[in-house]
Amino acid sequence: MRTLLLILLAATSLPAEESLFGKKANAAAVTPEPPPAPSAPAANAGVPSPGATPSEETVDTSVTITPFRPFQTAEAKEVRPFSMARLNRPLAFESTRELLRLHAAFVQQHVADASPEGFARAPGPITSMEYVVQQDLGEGRLLVKANWSASADGLLGAGEDAYAVLIPEKAPAVGEKGRAVVANVGLVAVKFTPAFAPLSGRRMTMRREAFIECAPLPDGPAALQKFVDNVKAGARISVFTAEKFPCKTCGGLGFTREAQKGKLEDKRIPCASCESGKVTVRIETQFAP
Ligand SMILES: [Zn+2]
Repeated sequence: MRTLLLILLAATSLPAEESLFGKKANAAAVTPEPPPAPSAPAANAGVPSPGATPSEETVDTSVTITPFRPFQTAEAKEVRPFSMARLNRPLAFESTRELLRLHAAFVQQHVADASPEGFARAPGPITSMEYVVQQDLGEGRLLVKANWSASADGLLGAGEDAYAVLIPEKAPAVGEKGRAVVANVGLVAVKFTPAFAPLSGRRMTMRREAFIECAPLPDGPAALQKFVDNVKAGARISVFTAEKFPCKTCGGLGFTREAQKGKLEDKRIPCASCESGKVTVRIETQFAP
């Protein structure tokens, strides 16, 4: 999978100014190329020179895929250990319930691979996708029209009937349907000539979500046991979760009080640093034996 990712990302590089398409990454996903500037009329325009062949329309079928916006994971604000040795000890946060929840996050954030450990961190949010192949972009890359669900971590929104770039394990033919578990690798700019209606023949650049098909990790009791064994054997595993904590500014109330002159009741001011008394903090939990 790593090789394919490199192929996708290392595609022919464009001059710097071409990768700066504009500020709104999500807007205007389909940008027709500006028409070529008319060439200066030749002095003898209209007078066919002897031996001139009728102008031939050559269709540029080259494809350039440039990373436009890599998938960005928010940095964890805090790192905490989860020690297997402390599991279900009094006052320890390392409970079976917490382990199940964090293992579910592990499954959503890692994919199966051929490494000795058998898994690797996913390059981006994992989701499932149904697609129809619109065009083969070469080098194992497809332009697909797809539906995908929002990722479990909430970092990738759902897509409906949307064009996307996909690197599948095994590519179906153009026009065929497919279904895959995929990892999002961010937004790419695809410069190509569509070979399908209604865009056929128009040289254009599309900015689209890019995905790589991946093998999901199994879930369930046997997978959990293997996970625990891996941690006890010293595997370096961490997961990212968004945790809610009571807000320190307002003491978890969701508002602060301000005394009002001549009134018994304080004025309640909605707390600016939280939502209903809770703050969400992105935390990296590092597992330890
Ligand atoms: Zn607050």
